[in-house]
Amino acid sequence: MSLLKVEHIAKSFGGVKAINDVSFELPKGQLLALLGPNGAGKSTCFNMLNGQLRPDSGSIKLEGVELVGKHPRQIWRAGVGRTFQISATFGSLTVLENLQMVLLSRYKKLNRWWKPVTHYFQEEAMVLLDQVGMADQADRACSVLAYGDVKRVELAMALAHEPTLLLMDEPTAGMAPRERNQLIALVKKMVVDRNLSVLFTEHSMDVVFEHADRMMVFARGELIADGDSDMIRNDARVREVYFGS
Ligand code: ADP
Ligand code: MG
Repeated sequence: MSLLKVEHIAKSFGGVKAINDVSFELPKGQLLALLGPNGAGKSTCFNMLNGQLRPDSGSIKLEGVELVGKHPRQIWRAGVGRTFQISATFGSLTVLENLQMVLLSRYKKLNRWWKPVTHYFQEEAMVLLDQVGMADQADRACSVLAYGDVKRVELAMALAHEPTLLLMDEPTAGMAPRERNQLIALVKKMVVDRNLSVLFTEHSMDVVFEHADRMMVFARGELIADGDSDMIRNDARVREVYFGS
């Protein structure tokens, strides 16, 4: 059974069909890139998957369980994690403390007394930081980190919730090409190591072709192609709509 099964979802804003009858499935352990020009409907698709937007019609099932109609928090609890374009870290706290906060919030509601309990989950936090290559910067404040390193911390924070499906909308926005490649290579490693499924959007075709297992191309709210890099490269509609040739 697929991890995620999306059937005939649609979403309009006024007269604009942002997503028009889109269906796809996502197995476990796959890195899937969502491509398409600006306004194609990628973010709308993400926002329906994590419950921020309710589809006008259609079904979204995670391991057979219907997600449409559920609150974003319930969907997050069901195993759908996401990273944010705007930094989700607390700059004045250290890298380690940021991770500890997330791990703590998994078990308890955060409240004013979190500070004295930062010795909890240290080991677990360090394991995650090690996985994203940030263990050596654990004691630095997030505010002084390089941009790409903040993104690594955010990835560790997202993984701390142990999602089965991770959604990353433009995770490399604002990054230099080399940093982009490194971050997506790291995400790919997590996909393999953890049998995690990741859906992400990315503008650099080089990065996508190098790391993604599969690509889906959206144009004007429709899914126009779905396949591996060879299929996508050679798809006439994709070339026309997306590459303009
Ligand atoms: P992408 O992420 O691929 O750039 P979006 O999903 O953000 O595309 O947008 C798809 C279409 O839906 C665009 O035409 C956009 O203007 C429209 N749209 C997205 N969100 C809203 C909204 N909240 N209100 C009105 N129109 C929206
Ligand atoms: Mg978008």
